[in-house]
Amino acid sequence: MNRTFTLLAMTAMTIFITCRPSAKPADINDPLAANRDTTVAPGTNFFYYANGGWIKRNPIPSSERANGIWLTIEDGVKDAVKEICESSANASATIGSNKQKIGDFFASGMDTLTIEKMDIKPLEAEFNKIDVIKDIPGLLSSIAHLQTLQVGAMFSIYVGRDDKVPTQYAIFLNQGGLGLPNRDYYLNTDARTANIRSEYLKHLQSMFQKLGYEPIAAGKNSKDIMALETSLAKASRKLEDLRDPYKNYNKMTIEELNKLTPSIDWNILLKEMGVAKLDTVVVGQPEFFKALNANVKSVSIDHWKTYLRWNLINTYAAYVGRQFEDQNFNFYSRTIYGIQEPKPRWKRVVEKTNRSLGEVIGQEYVANYLPKGTKEKLVEIGNNIRNETRERIQRLDWMTEPTRQMALKKIETMVMKVGYPDKWKDYSELEVSRDSYAQNVMNAHKWSFNYMIRKYGNPVDRLEWNMFPQTYNAYYDPTGNEIVVPGCNIIVPGYGKKLPDDAVLYGIIGGSTFGHEIIHGFDDQGSQYDETGRLNNWWTKEDREKFEARTKLLIEQYNNYVVLDSLHVRGEATLGENIADLGGIQLGYSAFKKTSQGKSNETLNGLTADQRYFLGFAYAWMVQIRDESLAAQIMTDVHSPVQFRVIGPMANTPDFYRAFNIQPGEPMYRDEKIRVSLW
Ligand SMILES: [Zn+2]
Repeated sequence: MNRTFTLLAMTAMTIFITCRPSAKPADINDPLAANRDTTVAPGTNFFYYANGGWIKRNPIPSSERANGIWLTIEDGVKDAVKEICESSANASATIGSNKQKIGDFFASGMDTLTIEKMDIKPLEAEFNKIDVIKDIPGLLSSIAHLQTLQVGAMFSIYVGRDDKVPTQYAIFLNQGGLGLPNRDYYLNTDARTANIRSEYLKHLQSMFQKLGYEPIAAGKNSKDIMALETSLAKASRKLEDLRDPYKNYNKMTIEELNKLTPSIDWNILLKEMGVAKLDTVVVGQPEFFKALNANVKSVSIDHWKTYLRWNLINTYAAYVGRQFEDQNFNFYSRTIYGIQEPKPRWKRVVEKTNRSLGEVIGQEYVANYLPKGTKEKLVEIGNNIRNETRERIQRLDWMTEPTRQMALKKIETMVMKVGYPDKWKDYSELEVSRDSYAQNVMNAHKWSFNYMIRKYGNPVDRLEWNMFPQTYNAYYDPTGNEIVVPGCNIIVPGYGKKLPDDAVLYGIIGGSTFGHEIIHGFDDQGSQYDETGRLNNWWTKEDREKFEARTKLLIEQYNNYVVLDSLHVRGEATLGENIADLGGIQLGYSAFKKTSQGKSNETLNGLTADQRYFLGFAYAWMVQIRDESLAAQIMTDVHSPVQFRVIGPMANTPDFYRAFNIQPGEPMYRDEKIRVSLW
């Protein structure tokens, strides 16, 4: 046994002591064999063949939108965070210390007696400010102030690396201001969406009545809000159209922006938000801001005030009295996502404490819960995948030399942030007390807004993370040419104290995590950024055309997948993710083939090493999702539903065909002429 094996045995053991809920059944001998539904042939639907047994045995809990491997891992992390919260709440911590902040935030959220007694009192001062608005300058300054509390009225703003000058930060202004998840909810005519719209009107009415309005006035408010938001929705871009980095990058001076929107004085807005010395902004969708301007001119101040009251209560409904929280759940969780009942209170409060104090909790999580050696093991797998990417780029038969050299440069310089940040964010300005949960949430929102705004004008912080170590997810940032893989990605449930074999590790951590994120640097969007993170074309015309001919096939492949009755996967909106899944599965496989298990092709529990690799990859997506949530995903998410994240890439991978002897005529079979190979 080599060093790797020992380390993993150790980490695997610690992981399941600390990260898995102890109440759940511990050891299934071999999840890959046990999760299957062998009544489904691999060539019919590999997702159900691999995961169908588990799915049949594990219905979705009534308080969740989905069930599967993610929930198991996230519940384990949540148990750890709960321990951190509770022990902090019980400690006698110094005011201003991390422990005090975590403990008081959590305790204030669990104190339902005080929350009920105060109801919406913590928001009163904010409602009063809206009441006294008299004119457009007053409206604008109120909107700016509400933005600092992360009330997303009118538009959305963020500070990030400038796509064309990635060594500097820019301020980005984007479409926003909607109460429903996106524009399609206002405009689509199918029955499911029409029903959500009519439920939204009822929800608005109910929220206004709870705020003290008479039914007739509440009804009128609801219609006014719907009219205003529909007008903004009509001027908003579709999911697909938000993916073009050039079209959504329109840099202008403040003078130019003020000319585009003469009724909106951006000097007032930006000053109120704390932006100093501003020369330019990047406007994502100029036509949206034009429409916003028209609304500022034509919609009465009274209607705008109604809209702001709605935005305020909508942002904070989950942190005030029960009547607001329940009504908020009823619409946003039950109607839109099909969730039947709220999660236990401790879970909701742990989630919000974790989101608000992520890096403070992260420090505790890394020190006391993340298995020793996690970072090293993740880095090792990550490096193997990077080496594989390099080798595959060197071998690509469709790419000419100049583009290949640039692609190699990009993979060489790609930054890998793994495990946890080298430098933690400073939360010292964030005030937390046990007095009011809603106030704590407002303070946290304000802290995080200020943290973001203050970046502007300062040098780019290359050590910053936009995800917590305890977040089971990962990302690629094209403007930094960097991938970020948080520590808890080391967790693979279901192996008890035994070591998951390399097939599983390379399927999940190698293919679906590192491989997937690395390939985002080379997907239809990421590949438009160079190795320094600049939006800058490094392709020859000929190679780009070849790339696009291949991605066109991928778009068609996914457009044909049916999700739910008439709903199809949106091939164009999901293209970047589908390219990443395809590259991920193939990189993970070639890296796996260099391990001793991959070379030996030994059989384990009746499964060959290659079969185990592909089952391992499918295990990463062993999730079942409510129909309502699937419909919402198709409308708002650039990721394909899990089933197609398995069968889509596999149907393009010859090694998969060999491993399971997939034959022409089987549903998984794609003719060689239309199989896509990119990276
Ligand atoms: Zn992705």
